[in-house]
Amino acid sequence: DQVAARMLGLILQVAEPDQPLLKPVRSDHYDYLIVGAGFAGSVMAERLAADAGKRVLVIDKRPHIAGNAFDHKDEAGILIHQYGPHIFHTNSADIFEYLSRFTAWRPYEHRVLAEVRGQLVPIPINRTTLNALFGLSLETEEQAAEFLAARAEPVTVIRSSEDVVISAVGRELYETFFQGYTRKQWGIDPSELDKSVTARVPTRTNTDDRYFTDRFQAMPRDGFTAMFAKMLDHPNIDLELGVTFEEAKRRFSFDQIVYTGPIDEYFDFRFGKLPYRSLRFEHVHEDREWAQPVAVVNYPDEKVPYTRVTEYKHLTGQQAPNTSLTYEFPSAEGDPYYPIPRPENQALFKQYEALAEATKGVLFVGRLATYRYYNMDQVVGQALATYRRHIAEERETPPL
Ligand code: FAD
Ligand code: UDP
Repeated sequence: DQVAARMLGLILQVAEPDQPLLKPVRSDHYDYLIVGAGFAGSVMAERLAADAGKRVLVIDKRPHIAGNAFDHKDEAGILIHQYGPHIFHTNSADIFEYLSRFTAWRPYEHRVLAEVRGQLVPIPINRTTLNALFGLSLETEEQAAEFLAARAEPVTVIRSSEDVVISAVGRELYETFFQGYTRKQWGIDPSELDKSVTARVPTRTNTDDRYFTDRFQAMPRDGFTAMFAKMLDHPNIDLELGVTFEEAKRRFSFDQIVYTGPIDEYFDFRFGKLPYRSLRFEHVHEDREWAQPVAVVNYPDEKVPYTRVTEYKHLTGQQAPNTSLTYEFPSAEGDPYYPIPRPENQALFKQYEALAEATKGVLFVGRLATYRYYNMDQVVGQALATYRRHIAEERETPPL
């Protein structure tokens, strides 16, 4: 057998002179190089490989798949999210069905409490929040709506993240729940941020205390990383981790690129740096069964240096006598996690977008490459749409 193996190795060596002896033969040429193994890259890889029969190589500079949705067991055996809490929710049956090919689900509806004035109250602001904070007993939606209408300040044109909240709930609730949190999270005042940011968090006059109201709300039963592993498990997909784009360009040959990293970096910051906001995550383990009543507690108070604390067992359903949590400390330095939605950044992005459109053979997909504050489901939707468009175009003008 040893002789046979050596013979095979030698034959392979002749066919592939750069391959070390007996290393499984891999292609050194791919139809696509995919930069980034997060949602954008993995969905594109899966579709190109499984639907279009393309040979793809997925690379990521990190030592793991799943991008920012990466989860893993910590030293105490608790499943944690390395880059902060990721809760899946969508209104799209198509997106939910697509991901369901790669995972079973655990139904989970997200609930968040905010610590304000020494109390834990529901956020988004709802009737329970108002009653708790102001010692009221508002009983109907009409009463709650009246209470808020009396505080709301008319804003002629709603442009900023301050306008959107003040016009709905007035200054006091804005300062209590939004101003400090937003200044910490983004490093700028809500008046400097596009309205779309705080508009993510609605105001309710009922007692619905769910963070999201989407039709589909669930967590991948075995975690996000397991879901990605299944997505990428296809004979047409090769995967190299801990490899940068620069390195991949030197080592491999490919016809086309799917790029899911920051778009300004792709173009060597030609028009200047696009601002991204970062976070520092502090993961802690506690020797008690539960640390807080819900998965996430928000801390809007500007004097508290972190924005929120996540206790994962609430999300994952894992049972254990001890627990793991993550504190999020916003920062200007570090990995790019959030595009910062404001007009001047959008204008700069548009310059890069025009370059991207003129760059043949490269598809830009995902939160960093399209500079959009997208949730996971939106990135999946964007990748599926990009794939469909790309394949339709290729069928119209087949490569020579
Ligand atoms: P990413 O996941 O960032 O993947 C891009 C990958 O490309 C990265 O792994 C990176 O290492 C790699 N890469 C970049 N440049 C290079 C290079 N030059 N060479 C090699 N590799 C490179 N969404 C929700 O729906 N629900 C939530 O609850 C939620 N919570 C979030 C909490 C936090 C703290 C953050 C930051 C995001 C959250 N999101 C949430 C958003 C979600 O993380 C994103 O929508 C999604 O992960 C984006 O996927 P992506 O593939 O576009 O980018
Ligand atoms: N926000 C806030 N107070 C809160 C929750 C949210 O001011 O208690 C604002 C803040 O600007 C935040 C934005 O609303 O960045 C969006 O909140 P979300 O929870 O959607 O943020 P993400 O999970 O994307 O970090």
